[in-house]
Amino acid sequence: MAKLHFRPYIPNQTVLFPGRIDENIASNDPVRIVNTVVDNLNLDNFKKLYKATGRCPYHPKMMLKVIIYAYMNNIYSCRKIEKLLLRDIHYIWLSGNEHPDFITINRFRNRVKEEINTVFTQLVLVLADKGFISLDVEYIDGTKIESMANKYTFVWRKTVEKNRTKLMDKIRILLEQVDEAIAQENSSKDTSVEFTPAMLSDIVNELKEVLEHQPVTKDKEQKKVIREKKKQVRELEEYRDKLMEYDNHLEVLGERNSYSKTDPDATFMRMKEDAMKNGQTKPGYNLQTGTENQFIIDFRLFPNPTDTLTLIPFFHSFQHRYNRLPGIGVADSGYGSEENYRFMQDNGIEAFVKYNYFHKEQRPRYTPNPFHAESLHYNAGEDYYVCPMGQHMNRIGTRRDKTASGYISESARYKAQRCEGCPLRGSCFKAGGTVL
Ligand code: SF4
Repeated sequence: MAKLHFRPYIPNQTVLFPGRIDENIASNDPVRIVNTVVDNLNLDNFKKLYKATGRCPYHPKMMLKVIIYAYMNNIYSCRKIEKLLLRDIHYIWLSGNEHPDFITINRFRNRVKEEINTVFTQLVLVLADKGFISLDVEYIDGTKIESMANKYTFVWRKTVEKNRTKLMDKIRILLEQVDEAIAQENSSKDTSVEFTPAMLSDIVNELKEVLEHQPVTKDKEQKKVIREKKKQVRELEEYRDKLMEYDNHLEVLGERNSYSKTDPDATFMRMKEDAMKNGQTKPGYNLQTGTENQFIIDFRLFPNPTDTLTLIPFFHSFQHRYNRLPGIGVADSGYGSEENYRFMQDNGIEAFVKYNYFHKEQRPRYTPNPFHAESLHYNAGEDYYVCPMGQHMNRIGTRRDKTASGYISESARYKAQRCEGCPLRGSCFKAGGTVL
């Protein structure tokens, strides 16, 4: 039997000439790309985030490389990154064998939160410079990101406004009962008076002062009246606090219709994943992303769930970032609206954006409504439509509609001359015999 030989195994050996840390990292490993790209970034903006005194901080380039590489590998926990900095050769090489702890990593992450957007822009410009992207075309789509907040922490604008109106009425009625002089000033009938918490505080102070200077009495009836007034003042204080709460809610809501108490930036919206299939709204954000050649070139979070309303602000975000607009905009039918088409036309953006009914029209069994404007013959020279009964429909005016974003949409209105006795009147007259 041949003699068995094992390779030498000496775990605690020392080496005479230390090897390079990266000699076992492949030349095309993504970690090398992160290293090169971050080395080419200008991080001068980060300097203002550090103090000149105290212990020397870790180099921001090193910290940024480590965090970007961890995020690329779906690792977001600072404690996990701290461990990898001791165990994983890629992280050890990136960090130059430095070992920042999880607190330092987290502090850095929070410190550069504002500046990271500039880093992203620089990164995209580097890609454009190297010819990977042209920034001439932007493919846009959005997704809803669920917030970590509980789904029962909602505040709805309509409820707040309704309760606030009820509270105003209660305050007016109470003031009428509390003091005659004040009642005259704040008549319950005058609903135009909008009470503010400051106004109520002044009234409460005034009433307290009056009560304090009341002469001491032994009369039971008088004592009862004073007790009652004190109770009313307490009630008024409660109303004031409630009013303050409602005003705070409205301030946080801003333009939105809802928000979460534990994550005030999150708005309630329907998520794509609906496990319960009940269309429940959850707190979240509408993340819009622009890509080109599979690289993300722009992103922005929106509080409103409707994609149609996000397209123009998203193009503005692109313009703000790169001082120009893309030449071509590509998006799905969720972004098709007159306002968006008009914006793209006015700004020289070639639109590859379907309209809302596009997919419906592509169905094999789709039959167009014969009474809709697009099904009728239009004579452009003399500006009239021909209705299904062959009558000329002449232009009678223009209708103006205001969209949720404040855009005024104009549509021409046409009407047939005589519709009396028409056999198609029942189907046609839903729209009053007019074509828009
Ligand atoms: S109701 Fe008037 S507009 Fe409609 S088909 Fe008849 S004639 Fe034409």
